Amino acid sequence: MILAWIHDVVEAVQSCVSGMRTTGRFLVENLRGEGGAMSATREYPEQPAEVVGDRQRGHLVNDADRCIVCHACDTVCPVDCFKMDGERDGDNKMRASRFDIDLSKCIYCGLCVRACPTDSLSMTRTFEMDPQHEGKRFLFRRNSKQVDVRFDAPEMERLHALAAQPREALSAEDRAWLDARIDDRGQHLIGIYGLGFFTPEQKAEADAAREAKKKAKDAAAAAAKAKAAAAAAAAAPKPASVPAPAAGATPAAPAAPPAAPGAPPATKSGPDAASGGSPTP
Ligand code: SF4
Ligand code: SF4
Repeated sequence: MILAWIHDVVEAVQSCVSGMRTTGRFLVENLRGEGGAMSATREYPEQPAEVVGDRQRGHLVNDADRCIVCHACDTVCPVDCFKMDGERDGDNKMRASRFDIDLSKCIYCGLCVRACPTDSLSMTRTFEMDPQHEGKRFLFRRNSKQVDVRFDAPEMERLHALAAQPREALSAEDRAWLDARIDDRGQHLIGIYGLGFFTPEQKAEADAAREAKKKAKDAAAAAAKAKAAAAAAAAAPKPASVPAPAAGATPAAPAAPPAAPGAPPATKSGPDAASGGSPTP
């Protein structure tokens, strides 16, 4: 019993010494500024990340011009990050009139990127996640409740424009406008990539353009159909002309009508008829 206890103590001391030897070696390497430990450990943010792996999942961005509003990303997202709407433009193509990603919910799993059929969704290799960081215009702070608020095109443009400027550079009016859109309980990172909704005038314009194109297409199809029918009629062979009967000729007797089904056979005249019609062997 005592021997087992002594054995355990010796083993613990040996493990401790072994571990401390490894720690001491890396400590000396770090103090000298050399070795693998130094290259992997950085004092962020004083030492910003310089080497980021190829598969780093940084910011989630959407190239809204390529988005067809298919909702594939929305379907696979496990935490319901997406809010999107689409409208048809004058060419009858779907455009994302709103595409919000609630980055405060996002777990950066990347499933949406894999599901996107047009590659409009992607993840950058960015390491810095500060929305105020220079060049991060696609991130903005919004009230989480505003995810359900409809932003029209001018408002979206204003958000993008103001998000690109440092807060100190904004006018008092712009600052107040922004503050009204920030949650008192804390700011949320919301990606805003939407193109903005059509205004009623833009929508009417797009609808009219689409209708005009549809009518022009229908008219062209009808004209092409009529032209093809006329060409087919012109190419069809004409029926041969029937010769006129010679003067004085007796018109041929009309052919006997076919026998009605089930009617008795017509009476024959001649020897077979006289002999009772028995068949000749
Ligand atoms: S990366 Fe974010 S938005 Fe995309 S599916 Fe995952 S949780 Fe949803
Ligand atoms: S999967 Fe891609 S194309 Fe479809 S709605 Fe999402 S971002 Fe747009």
